[in-house]
Amino acid sequence: MDFSLSDHQHLIRDTVREFMNTEVRPHVKDWERSDHFPLEFIQKLGALGCCGMLMPEQWGGPGLDTISYVLMLEEVARVHTAMSTAIAVTNSAVQLPLLAFGSETQKLRYLKALASGEILGAFCLTEPAAGSDAAGIQATAVRDGHNYNLNGTKTWVTNGSAAGVFIVFAKTNPAAAGKGISAFLLEPGYPGLKIGRHEDKMGQRCSPSVEIILNDCIIPASDRLGEEGSGLKIALSALDGGRIGIAAQAVGLAQGALDESTKYARARKAFGKPIGEFQAVQWMLADMHTEIEAARVLLYQAAFLKDSGAKMGSAASRAKLYASEMVNRVVYKAVQIHGSLGYSRESEVEHMYRDARVITIYEGTSEIQRTIIARDLLRS
Ligand SMILES: Cc1cc2nc3c(=O)[nH]c(=O)nc-3n(C[C@H](O)[C@H](O)[C@H](O)COP(=O)(O)OP(=O)(O)OC[C@H]3O[C@@H](n4cnc5c(N)ncnc54)[C@H](O)[C@@H]3O)c2cc1C
Repeated sequence: MDFSLSDHQHLIRDTVREFMNTEVRPHVKDWERSDHFPLEFIQKLGALGCCGMLMPEQWGGPGLDTISYVLMLEEVARVHTAMSTAIAVTNSAVQLPLLAFGSETQKLRYLKALASGEILGAFCLTEPAAGSDAAGIQATAVRDGHNYNLNGTKTWVTNGSAAGVFIVFAKTNPAAAGKGISAFLLEPGYPGLKIGRHEDKMGQRCSPSVEIILNDCIIPASDRLGEEGSGLKIALSALDGGRIGIAAQAVGLAQGALDESTKYARARKAFGKPIGEFQAVQWMLADMHTEIEAARVLLYQAAFLKDSGAKMGSAASRAKLYASEMVNRVVYKAVQIHGSLGYSRESEVEHMYRDARVITIYEGTSEIQRTIIARDLLRS
């Protein structure tokens, strides 16, 4: 496997790094204090091609490879994790299923607008009583002639208050469990669709997570995405690719925490010398760096496998599992190195510590990743 980057991949990484450092970094503290969702800056990233990076040119994207995509996400998360969450969801959880399963009319209606960042996408699978157990969702879609009538409540919908299109999963045949789920494309203004409460979260407070309430929301049958009954397959395929994005987010955030910690270890003095001269601090920095590089290799391996067309479900899970647990160890050490400042909202590492916690939970918990990895291992 050759992990050297092409000139174009270098250019993407450097362009996004420059944008995040000069345009975004100066605002992060203010946004974190006011829970501001920086939609305008996400759209600026869209103008750089970051909102639809994997989309072919025909559908308004640059048609880039997964390594380029993860390099972009790493750089975004390195400065602002909440922005990387919004971008990861719209790129992979929404556009990839639309590209793979959408009709020409559906693609024409949504893909170009999504790929340019003109609109964001949201993915609505989780419900109050069903998260990991996706087949246990209770939302229903009842066919009535040329229409479906949707009812149910979706929770934790990332981008939900700002999205222009939602992929909503609902049961068309409740008796068929997982095989009775279908996917639908809905828009925010539809009668019967209401944006519910915003989750009051521990971290990533600049990324909106909302309830979507469907109450006799009647849509034409042509708004179904894919075949009736193929919803779970669509959801799982989106999550497979999405896990690579979440691993990239974890690596980027961990790198940002290491950057802050190295800077602080050089500047902060105790007992008459920089704390970076104490072996205890050096070992924390060394462990952080080593673990980040290990996660990065798993991440690039999964991205490489995806691009080569090989089966990569287990590789994506290994990258997501290791990177998401790694980032939590890294941000713990970052706060430790910063001492009391690390516990203050004055420091960057304080919100990084909170932002990291959810990464072992969303797009499949660590326990679910371990189940996927072990199942794959035992099958072969
Ligand atoms: C900030 C945030 C953003 C999110 N964004 C979205 C989004 O955009 N769209 C969306 O649809 N969802 C979203 N989610 C939901 C997320 O995907 C779910 O929270 C996640 O899948 C876990 O489901 P749960 O919270 O219901 O936990 P549960 O499934 O109830 O799990 C609780 C615990 O039990 C464990 N567990 C469950 N089943 C098993 C098993 N079979 N074996 C071993 N352990 C098990 C879990 O690992 C976990 O530790 C988001 C969540 C958060 C916090």
